[in-house]
Amino acid sequence: MLRQRIDVKNYPLEELEIWMTKLGEPRYRARQLFQAIYAQGKTDFFSISTFPKTLRQRLSEMAVISNLTPKETITSQDGTVKFLFSLSDGKCIESVLIPHDGYFTLCISTQVGCAQGCRFCLTGKMGFKRHLTTAEIVNQVVYAKRHLPRSWPLRNIVLMGMGEPLHNYENTLKAIKILLHPLGLGFSHRRVTISTVGLVPQMLKMAQAVNVSWAISLHAPDDETRNLIVPANRRYPLKEILNALKMMPLPPRKRFTIEYVLLKDINSRLEHAQKLAQVLRGIPVKINLIPLNPHPGSNFLPPASEEILVFQQTLQKAGYTVTIRQSKGADIGAACGQLDGRPEGGENG
Ligand code: SAH
Ligand code: SF4
Repeated sequence: MLRQRIDVKNYPLEELEIWMTKLGEPRYRARQLFQAIYAQGKTDFFSISTFPKTLRQRLSEMAVISNLTPKETITSQDGTVKFLFSLSDGKCIESVLIPHDGYFTLCISTQVGCAQGCRFCLTGKMGFKRHLTTAEIVNQVVYAKRHLPRSWPLRNIVLMGMGEPLHNYENTLKAIKILLHPLGLGFSHRRVTISTVGLVPQMLKMAQAVNVSWAISLHAPDDETRNLIVPANRRYPLKEILNALKMMPLPPRKRFTIEYVLLKDINSRLEHAQKLAQVLRGIPVKINLIPLNPHPGSNFLPPASEEILVFQQTLQKAGYTVTIRQSKGADIGAACGQLDGRPEGGENG
């Protein structure tokens, strides 16, 4: 019977080192392999020139170097690119490549669908299908890095695509280790951001395990409002999330990003802004306001632009740095909360 071949992209360097040692090979072979697959983008063992022929043969019999290629690439009028990847079981995920002035940000998925069910989010509507493997998370970055539409660097990775990264804790952690390792994908820890709905125990654990940037999807200044839109708030209420932020290590000059989707008549009034200013007091944060990206079948609407400005100014007057996210790629269903694994319609496998 054929044994399942292992996918070497599922493992951070330290695990590949253990694996190589178990195979009776010197430990440094793992480093050579890691470099070959990430720095050089190799996808077959035979082309790894630092390996002896016997090792290339042996590894190719027992392992694979996986890859993702999009089944569709859609470019928005504003230059945002959506990659639609079909996985080995036919399920689909998306990554979104966002151009800035001279560099790119890539927004990647960590699950097919999402179990958290936030009321305003299209991915939440899909429900949870499955976790992505480490390789599937990492391969979104590997692909984008090699297929940038222009010669700007890929500078930022945000885990803000489909899924809740901390619900897929183990695979997300391994993927981040590969993203950050200098012999791996080599991203700066300042430029890899986990966005979470606020799964408190996993936030605390992850913050101890790796040094990354954090974005917290708060969306409300009190439990009453948050319970209406974020079901996870019943498990981890606001106070617990804010306490977690106070305990999480933060390098000097670094701040947490507070994400706040603005929903007309729900969380966008003056008193919400005032209360938000109050509850965040003493925590090093910057606030990112995200006017809702509407999608068909949703009852929510974004507030009028005057209301958004009043919200922003109220927080600014209270001393906070507040940006308004200009959602890009809305015309191709690539903006926040518009990801459901479909090009612009149709069923996800
Ligand atoms: N699950 C994680 C990361 C993916 S969602 C999280 O919730 O943080 C990434 C961001 O998009 C979150 O802040 C989320 O609240 C926001 N979002 C979801 N649906 C949206 C919508 N329809 N319009 C604008 N932002 C949305
Ligand atoms: Fe999941 Fe994030 Fe969407 Fe909530 S906002 S349903 S946590 S993807």
